[in-house]
Amino acid sequence: MSIAENVRRVKAAIQAHQTGDDVTMIAVTKSVDPDVALALYEEGIRDFGENRPDSLLEKVNAMPEDARFHFIGTLQTRKVRQIIDKVTAIHSLDRLSLAEEINKRADRVIDCFVQVNISGEASKHGLEKEEVLPFIENCIQYPHIRVIGLMTMAPLTENDTIIRQTFHELRLLRDDIKRRDLPHAPCTELSMGMSNDFNIAIEEGASFVRIGTILVQ
Ligand SMILES: *Cc1c(COP(=O)(O)O)cnc(C)c1O
Repeated sequence: MSIAENVRRVKAAIQAHQTGDDVTMIAVTKSVDPDVALALYEEGIRDFGENRPDSLLEKVNAMPEDARFHFIGTLQTRKVRQIIDKVTAIHSLDRLSLAEEINKRADRVIDCFVQVNISGEASKHGLEKEEVLPFIENCIQYPHIRVIGLMTMAPLTENDTIIRQTFHELRLLRDDIKRRDLPHAPCTELSMGMSNDFNIAIEEGASFVRIGTILVQ
């Protein structure tokens, strides 16, 4: 399968499932060389996802200026400085020490998603549901942090009902925070859905899907 064909099929699938607002597809290029990322760029993709600073910087250097980079992995506090000027958004804000470091290193407002561990799996990163609102309220002390939405990963299961429930719960939580109209946390966005479950995520209201495998295989 060619990259062009992959992009065409995934875009068509996104179109088929979206009901309202546009969904932004982030091409996750963490496991491929820059030439594959460039091939995706040539097919019109402008949003790219990376989960390691080294790999992100490698892609930034290889790509045209208008490519946007989303940091989607666990971000070590000491690595913030390397990537902060290169990212359009950070999808993995999960602790105050990280918010503090982003705030300190950034010279502009950084769009962030708070990562939530809806499924409660021990292997997953992110805040527990109950921790999210107090955490976001706490972020008001960091003027360079803007919480634009929530992010989650579905549990590893073949059970679509469980996956759908996970995405639905993230949406309800997003709705609750959005309704509060916090100036530093508009929380309008939902980053959820990967190669295996993006259809369900879009049906449940995803505005950003993060897709790797099925684009690059
Ligand atoms: C790797 C990764 C993805 C993409 O997963 P695929 O199954 O390859 O589509 C999405 N989100 C995060 C956080 C990832 O680490």
